[in-house]
Amino acid sequence: MLDTETHNGWIQFIEFIQNRCTSAEFENWIAPIKFVRASVEEVVLEVPNIFVQEYLLDNFKEALAHFLPLKHTGEPAIVFQVTEQKRENASGMNAEPEPEEAPAPQFEVKLNRTYTFENFIEGPSNQFVKSAAVGVAARPGKSYNPLFIHGGVGLGKTHLLHSIGHYVLEHHKKSRVQVITTEQFINDIVDSLRNKSIDKLKRFYRSLDVLLVDDIQFLQNRLNFEEEFCNTFESLINQNKQIVITCDKAPTSLKLSERLIARMEWGLVAHMGVPDLETRVAIIKHKSESRGFNIPNQIAFFIAEHIYNNVRQIEGAINRLCAHSRLMSHDLTQEIVEKILSEMFQISSNKKVSVENILQSVAAIFEVRVSELKGESRHKEIALARQVAMYLAKELIDDSLMKIAAGFGGKTHSTLLHAWKKISDQVQINEPLRRQVQMVRRNIES
Ligand code: ADP
Ligand code: MG
Repeated sequence: MLDTETHNGWIQFIEFIQNRCTSAEFENWIAPIKFVRASVEEVVLEVPNIFVQEYLLDNFKEALAHFLPLKHTGEPAIVFQVTEQKRENASGMNAEPEPEEAPAPQFEVKLNRTYTFENFIEGPSNQFVKSAAVGVAARPGKSYNPLFIHGGVGLGKTHLLHSIGHYVLEHHKKSRVQVITTEQFINDIVDSLRNKSIDKLKRFYRSLDVLLVDDIQFLQNRLNFEEEFCNTFESLINQNKQIVITCDKAPTSLKLSERLIARMEWGLVAHMGVPDLETRVAIIKHKSESRGFNIPNQIAFFIAEHIYNNVRQIEGAINRLCAHSRLMSHDLTQEIVEKILSEMFQISSNKKVSVENILQSVAAIFEVRVSELKGESRHKEIALARQVAMYLAKELIDDSLMKIAAGFGGKTHSTLLHAWKKISDQVQINEPLRRQVQMVRRNIES
């Protein structure tokens, strides 16, 4: 039974939305939705996969509620049918990729050439995790499985992860190794759903001997991807294939399902600490020498004393000094070093970003007023800019959510969390927004 009014509502919604998203977004996410039928109470839509459904609800729930009948909860009354599930159900849900298929496809392994065990400097803060990594690389699938490496930003997690990859490829030539960021894992799934090659992708992952997964924290709040990851994970572990995961926090602090957290704790959980002064000096010496540049001990200590909690920043400092000394021929003195690096030291010493800094940068780049960001306006541009500011505040400020939220004219911490989740999701799929957010970040950090 077709209800014309509901059907018209759907058509109007499509027209409304067409002017509010980019044509790429529209093509990827909206166009594939098929209208099935409508009644006075609800509309039935067919979506190619669950991600399209999520996208629609995450982004346009309010608009949908405006055009379509409502449930008693006030949510738009939509019944979704998933094309892919219908097909999978027919052929056995969640079936393992079919065995008689051709060999799993090859994908290029993207290991950073310089991230090797040889280039990794050991110290008390990372000795344990390094030996665990070496153990895993020497006997993949036979020592700790999975190996879970966690620690702060710029401390060498990715470096160790890639080192395992290099070692395995060198010593077990036939092994199939892949390193992947969690973001890329999600993007690959979305792409393969779009061009209907999901089975090929699943087959690829499940044929690996070693899977190296970087930054698993990005799997948080991505429910359906989490499930796919969990399936891949179990499939590999059950075949004694090695998995190594890195993360910015311990498994128990992740907002993931208990099932997945328990799985990740099965093997060995190793913490990567902040290197002590001597280790930092050794890193500085090693990095500068590998650039053909000799930094005197005294200066290496000087740098190490000033940049203490992030090896990536130390590298940035070395790069600046290298560039400088290539241009100027005089020797490095502490004074010159201080001058060149003062800007960096400042950032690292008063690295504390405030809500006010963020509001100002967002206001400048999104062309709105700070007062509007702190206000209540639901105007689309302002609301988006406000959510970006909230997202960045949560990312960049190490303080309680309640305190951060208060900086936005007394919003609640759940508003902040909601904004954070929304923008975290959006920056994965919305390239123009991602670029704007990056611009704001650079603006804040400069
Ligand atoms: P994370 O993934 O933990 O954020 P990365 O692995 O990307 O950090 O490391 C940041 C940079 O610091 C890389 O260039 C890496 O080579 C370097 N680095 C970190 N720790 C060490 C170490 N112990 N020895 C040598 N280089 C290191
Ligand atoms: Mg990393």
